[in-house]
Amino acid sequence: MTSDIPSTADIVVVGGGVMGASTAYHLAAAGAGKVILLEKEPYFGQGATGRCAGGVRYQFATEINVQLSIASLALLESFEQDTGQDPLYRKCGYLFVLTQDGMVAKFKGNVAMQNRLGVNTQWLEAEDVKSRLPMMRFEDALAGTLHANDGLADPNSVVMGYIQRARQLGVTAFTDVSVLDIDTMGNQVQHVVTSSGSIATQVVVDAAGPWAGLIGRMVGLELPITPIRRQMLTTTPLPDLPADFPFVIDFAQSLYFHREGTGVLTGMSNPDEKPGFDQTIDGEWELVAMQAAAERMPMLETAGRQTGWAGLYEVTPDAHPIFGETPIDGFYLIGGFSGHGFMHGPIAGKLMTERILEGKSYTVDVSSLDLARFDENRLIFEYNVV
Ligand SMILES: Cc1cc2nc3c(=O)[nH]c(=O)nc-3n(C[C@H](O)[C@H](O)[C@H](O)COP(=O)(O)OP(=O)(O)OC[C@H]3O[C@@H](n4cnc5c(N)ncnc54)[C@H](O)[C@@H]3O)c2cc1C
Repeated sequence: MTSDIPSTADIVVVGGGVMGASTAYHLAAAGAGKVILLEKEPYFGQGATGRCAGGVRYQFATEINVQLSIASLALLESFEQDTGQDPLYRKCGYLFVLTQDGMVAKFKGNVAMQNRLGVNTQWLEAEDVKSRLPMMRFEDALAGTLHANDGLADPNSVVMGYIQRARQLGVTAFTDVSVLDIDTMGNQVQHVVTSSGSIATQVVVDAAGPWAGLIGRMVGLELPITPIRRQMLTTTPLPDLPADFPFVIDFAQSLYFHREGTGVLTGMSNPDEKPGFDQTIDGEWELVAMQAAAERMPMLETAGRQTGWAGLYEVTPDAHPIFGETPIDGFYLIGGFSGHGFMHGPIAGKLMTERILEGKSYTVDVSSLDLARFDENRLIFEYNVV
């Protein structure tokens, strides 16, 4: 029902994926006043969040991403207590397999940095990798890294857990409402124009994921967030797949596998994918990815394709997210998570709340992840995104 859309709000959050849901919940929990969440689709969490692989991990190549993971996965641990919803956090471990010399040196540095920050990632020699993955063909493995508490959680449970609790705390959250325009006066946000009426507000949070750039244009901003299609598929049951099979990443090929039900979910990033909003499956790439997957995991030759889908990464030039203020007063951005936003969503909404209500994100210092860094040549490079 959209006829009762309020005409005023203290804060309007645009987008009902993990970022919008987490932000709305944390704003409400902090007593931010009248918060409205708007989602254009008939259900929450049907954008990038609902199409993601559900992976959550501590293993990253930059300190800021590791710090975001530490803080965010702690919120997944307390998620059921905080929201009443089980996020289905399953710690199966992430195993990165390294097959090129250059990667070995880089990942050794990553593991040292992660260990220094208190993340107990293990270094695996080539033989350890092969003995842990007897069902895979990794003759060319040079080394690997494993963190046992990396794993998977359920995107739908996380989004709906936040939305339901946010509603209990007073947020009004709508589906089937599209934001069509945002009016400013001088340099200040004034109104959000929607498909169901106009809302007067001084604060808007752009949490529109891959579509964040379109919302930015409504206030005259060109945000450096590019939608890039990624796709994956699941297989029919694989009875020989061990129950403790980890999330495996063949880093050189951006090819990954994890247990999904009684089969496997597998995907591979197409390096030639052009930016755009197309979410249909690229059949040609699916064949390329399937073949690469079967070469690594021969048992896939006996499996059928269960289902497949495509979604959009929201990519920034340095593969790191953007938090906080923009040149338009009252227009905040939480986006550009470049393929790892599901796992950072819980903490991201908290940091956004701190920023809006207190002017500073203090649980994790994300001041380096501001929008201005792209104009001021302060980009941060992440080696560990697939
Ligand atoms: C194939 C794939 C695999 C991935 N795997 C992982 C993974 O394993 N682990 C991980 O951490 N991350 C993963 N990601 C990345 C992760 O899904 C995203 O970073 C994260 O979900 C972004 O959340 P969001 O809320 O910003 O965006 P979204 O979930 O896309 O939410 C934005 C919402 O805004 C809505 N919206 C847009 N425009 C409007 C408008 N005008 N009016 C109202 N509403 C609007 C959209 O409908 C959408 O629901 C993956 C992504 C993809 C595509």
